Amino acid sequence: MWTQDWRSRFEAAAEQAFDVLIVGGGITGAGVALEAARAGLRVALIEQNDFASGTSSWSSKLVHGGLRYLASGDWRLTRESVQERQRLMRDLPGLVSPLDFMLPVYAHDKPGRWALHAALGAYDLMARKRYSHYMKQADFLGHMPYLNTEGLKGGFVYRDALTDDVRLTLRVLIEAHSHGALAANYVRAEQLLFEGDTVAGARVTDSETGRSFDIRARVVVNATGPWSDRLRAQVDGTAQLRPLRGSHFVFPFHVLPVGRAITLFHPDDRRPLFAIPWQGATVFGTTDLDHEQSIDEAPRMSVAESEYLIAAARHYFPACDMQAARALSSFAGVRPIVRGAAGASASEESRESSIENEKGLITVTGGKLTTFRVTANDVLEQIGNALDRHFERNEKAPIIHGVPVGGQTRGVVRHGPAFAAMDRQADDDIALGTTDYCRRELRFALAHEAVAHLDDLMLRRTRAGLLLEQGGLAELAALEPIVCDALGWDATRWTQEVDRYRAHWQQVHAPV
Ligand SMILES: Cc1cc2nc3c(=O)[nH]c(=O)nc-3n(C[C@H](O)[C@H](O)[C@H](O)COP(=O)(O)OP(=O)(O)OC[C@H]3O[C@@H](n4cnc5c(N)ncnc54)[C@H](O)[C@@H]3O)c2cc1C
Repeated sequence: MWTQDWRSRFEAAAEQAFDVLIVGGGITGAGVALEAARAGLRVALIEQNDFASGTSSWSSKLVHGGLRYLASGDWRLTRESVQERQRLMRDLPGLVSPLDFMLPVYAHDKPGRWALHAALGAYDLMARKRYSHYMKQADFLGHMPYLNTEGLKGGFVYRDALTDDVRLTLRVLIEAHSHGALAANYVRAEQLLFEGDTVAGARVTDSETGRSFDIRARVVVNATGPWSDRLRAQVDGTAQLRPLRGSHFVFPFHVLPVGRAITLFHPDDRRPLFAIPWQGATVFGTTDLDHEQSIDEAPRMSVAESEYLIAAARHYFPACDMQAARALSSFAGVRPIVRGAAGASASEESRESSIENEKGLITVTGGKLTTFRVTANDVLEQIGNALDRHFERNEKAPIIHGVPVGGQTRGVVRHGPAFAAMDRQADDDIALGTTDYCRRELRFALAHEAVAHLDDLMLRRTRAGLLLEQGGLAELAALEPIVCDALGWDATRWTQEVDRYRAHWQQVHAPV
């Protein structure tokens, strides 16, 4: 997809107007690109940094209905999410995988056993599959042996699903490309272009080439997540976002050994938290608080969030010696939430998506990773209105095509059919450190997935930067020849990239 010289080809393609220009390369923009391209439209997507480098890399990685939405009475969102979860598991085996959750019940807990039983029954009904069941204390502890036993009566098991949020975004973009969409990272929309009073494209800058050029389009979609008020200001839109930060730790599995995911309620404020087995490690989070910093600074976990999470981890896993210093990494993301009623707490704000058309700029914000396809179809409807056309909703069609059964499935589901066609090399199966990323995947990403910087490779094409000690610095010597060979970097460029990655990791991902 992003093969040699793709940047200059992208700029050349922009000489002709597109039907749709999508600004923002997170899951929302990727989903819209796929649906619009499938509908036969000429589509371009631009992303100011790397693809999925915004909120879409820092989620809890769950493709889920969300029990908390059920608890807050948001039945429609829960039902829609559960149904999407079922479809995504069907369509993306190995990329969206079923995940069992344990939900302990302690004496005097609220909600209590019977309320949880009813909620989980409703959850199963929405998926049209009976899955949840109750376990007595001894059985429950058999699955979660390090859990605090004080007051533990037993607990439920229910099912949701797990993904790699970045890979999901990339895979949707790759599929969009197979339908003709073009996508460029490190290209930023600076200034909207107008014809009369109507938005007609954007003046953009490619930070890799330093070149600025115009991209004209009949419709512009603002899928910039937490940045969306910025573009809206250019069409006189009043600010509507309430950016809410959520942070997670990534612990080595041996520090927080959970074979299944577990939902817990923070002992201080009863907010739900998750410990999730993910790519050989355990992700623990999340927080939910107003993000006061500039959205242009990469968000990071604060000391107060760290203490809040560690307090819960210590409470529930007293034998595990939980400390921030034992984490491999931390990460934080900003939820692009549309501000609701005055006085609502962060957790009370709705996660529903919102779409509006202001002077031809279609802005889509809010929503969840899980429901990206529903959101994309809603946006397509708006695009249809703007173009005076009708597009059928495409939610039930398989999201990707040509997934073979057998040995290449992981590669093809994650990277697309071109992965199967790549020549084999003797060291293909050598893993990157203790991760399950192999050299074949690295080479493929370097050759086909628009890697511009070392952090793209370490944090997004792979998640090694979150999963290895010190961001995987110890693995870089082995990576140097592979990366330099694929990207044509010399020793000076390599050193600059290592310095850039190390500084970024220290500032943003080192546990605090
Ligand atoms: C802590 C946390 C946990 C979450 N957990 C889950 C979960 O488990 N499951 C779930 O379903 N959802 C979850 N979510 C929600 C989900 O992650 C978000 O809804 C989703 O990622 C938002 O995607 P987006 O594409 O709208 O925004 P983003 O991913 O932020 O994408 C917007 C992109 O626009 C780009 N951009 C901005 N301005 C410009 C410009 N001028 N030109 C070009 N590009 C620009 C940005 O760089 C950015 O990459 C979670 C969110 C958070 C914060």
